[in-house]
Amino acid sequence: MDNRKVTVKCPVCDNDFELDINGIQVGDIIECPVCGATLEVLSLDPIKLEAVVRGK
Ligand SMILES: [Zn+2]
Repeated sequence: MDNRKVTVKCPVCDNDFELDINGIQVGDIIECPVCGATLEVLSLDPIKLEAVVRGK
């Protein structure tokens, strides 16, 4: 499979980073490489991320 890299914006720190969406599915959890926030993939086309707030 080809790599599919997209540039996404972290909703937490507002920085752009590259995400390889090959094998990523809606509902997957990824981590922002800039701030380390836990992000859920809400949609792939267009790519949309939402910060996951872990319950305290
Ligand atoms: Zn971030």
